[in-house]
Amino acid sequence: MADHDGVVFAEVEFPVQAGFAIAWGEDGLTAAGPCPRCAGRTEMMFAFGSPQGTKGFFGRARPTQPTKVTMYCECGYWHEDRPPESPDTGCGAYWSVDIS
Ligand SMILES: [Zn+2]
Ligand SMILES: [Zn+2]
Repeated sequence: MADHDGVVFAEVEFPVQAGFAIAWGEDGLTAAGPCPRCAGRTEMMFAFGSPQGTKGFFGRARPTQPTKVTMYCECGYWHEDRPPESPDTGCGAYWSVDIS
């Protein structure tokens, strides 16, 4: 249940969050789950690129591949006090998701 109301925009760092759905694609992944601050559903795409092409993406060890990604709340709710110039579309929370 989303609970955006009363959550004023603030850049707040949260620890690693569990329970996010990770969907791997050819060039990266999509992580989706609830914001730990306002509980709004957030989905982000992460493109890692592939210097050697996409062939063998799943089979090869990729030392440059991160084990965590940083997500920002993108719940889409207009949280109070959000600066108009902010690139975020959520409450300002950010956190890491383990993708290893
Ligand atoms: Zn929100
Ligand atoms: Zn949020």
